[in-house]
Amino acid sequence: MSDSVFQNYIAGEWVEGNKGSVANISPADISDVIGQYAQADKAQTEAAIAAAAVGQIEWQKSGLEQRYSVLMAIGDELIARKDELGELLAREEGKTLAEGVGETYRSGQFFHYYAAEVLRQMGETAESVRPGIEIETRREPVGVVGIITPWNFPTATGAWKIAPALAFGNAVVWKPANQVPASAWALTEIISRQGLPAGTMNLVMGPGAEVGDVLINSRGINALTFTGSLDTGRKVAAATAVNLVKCQLEMGSKNALVVLDDADLANAVECAVGGAFGGTGQKCTASSRLIVTEGIHDRFVEAMVERMKKLVVGHPMKAGVNIGAVADARQMEQNLQYLETAKSEGGRLVCGGEVLTEETEGYYMQPALFTETTNAMTINREEAFAPIACIIKVKDYDEALATLNDTNFGLTGGICTQSLKYATDFKRNAKTGCVMVNLPTAGTDYHVPFGGRKDSSFGPREQGTYAKEFYTVVKTTYISA
Ligand code: NAD
Repeated sequence: MSDSVFQNYIAGEWVEGNKGSVANISPADISDVIGQYAQADKAQTEAAIAAAAVGQIEWQKSGLEQRYSVLMAIGDELIARKDELGELLAREEGKTLAEGVGETYRSGQFFHYYAAEVLRQMGETAESVRPGIEIETRREPVGVVGIITPWNFPTATGAWKIAPALAFGNAVVWKPANQVPASAWALTEIISRQGLPAGTMNLVMGPGAEVGDVLINSRGINALTFTGSLDTGRKVAAATAVNLVKCQLEMGSKNALVVLDDADLANAVECAVGGAFGGTGQKCTASSRLIVTEGIHDRFVEAMVERMKKLVVGHPMKAGVNIGAVADARQMEQNLQYLETAKSEGGRLVCGGEVLTEETEGYYMQPALFTETTNAMTINREEAFAPIACIIKVKDYDEALATLNDTNFGLTGGICTQSLKYATDFKRNAKTGCVMVNLPTAGTDYHVPFGGRKDSSFGPREQGTYAKEFYTVVKTTYISA
């Protein structure tokens, strides 16, 4: 497999990359070369955009039952092959096999959900203020959708964007993160067998600075959906604004879990461990800040340390492993820098943080817990994207809520409490797009909107019925009999 070159998919054909290929190497075992993946250049990306414009016209004419069947078939295949594709995902990204399989299954569910949405495309009618005239509003495809995705959810971010794009009659040009092309290639291969008009689905693999840059600056794209870091998101917003291209951004965060004195301690610990360290801490919904009131603080720290000692870090395919590998050398180096910064600013490392040596050479670290941190410290301001959690001790609920909201980000926020009063107040006043009560900050459903506030999100919401705001345009028609 390591000798094969996995090609780009442009205008209904598999094509070599004009910029050659790159090796996809597992972060869990750097001797494991998953394959060579073609690299597109500017001309190929432009060709994909042009092909999408042609394909979209045909796909828009397709009947709803055809679209429904295509989306169902993609969902069925992802779910049927969840073990095989989940393993591939875990191999290339480093998350555990269970997480890889779960992500693949959920990706199938996105396609099933939007298969149903295909059949729910209803408009509205209205009386005109002028006699004898009727008005109708209906939604039409936005056109060619550019999709740029990050490395941490290689299949799911593609799925939750491609499924609504196709459901509403659009064509797609997808640029996945260059660290994780295998899952994107596998999903595209499934889509390529569904009989779509040539150009409806395109995959262009390559670096953001080249392939992504063409997409965000193109006038041939009608809507650009991006998930990734804040810095890149700002570039996407600036570039698309020049051409007045519709833009949707899901970016980073600095999520917090509040633990109040009256919390169920065992549940609070499970929420904190799952939310902070699941996916090796590399989730946009990870709770890297743990805001704990003083009455439960010491018991919570003690219980966290006990629980963390039982976490097994290791090769993603190994049975019993809870936490897989860090995504790559650059991310590992950044994690270790954040550990040092947290220490130098006065944080006390009470558990973990060690670099681990496994049987295979890869990027492994023990999840880390800091106490005695303040919300002003760098580690609590910047998104580290690491298995590092920091406890911030506060006096009471009011200080906890103020601390949670004192950040530039606003994706998810959680609270562990048995008080209806505090849970209700939190639900109303947490300045985040998603709120979790007695649940981890990470872990969302596939049929409801997902997104954040402040620097975490920009533009219309993703997922659920809300996705149609981005993937369609409204047309108002006046009819005189
Ligand atoms: P990134 O911004 O480095 O890259 C994201 C994508 O943008 C990649 O495909 C990359 O190649 C591309 N890109 C890079 N530079 C570009 C440019 N100049 N022009 C166009 N495209 C360019 O992010 P990442 O490191 O891959 O992902 C991690 C980030 O993603 C974290 O901040 C995380 O919070 C965020 N994320 C957010 C969500 C969410 O839904 N809010 C979900 C997953 C990940």
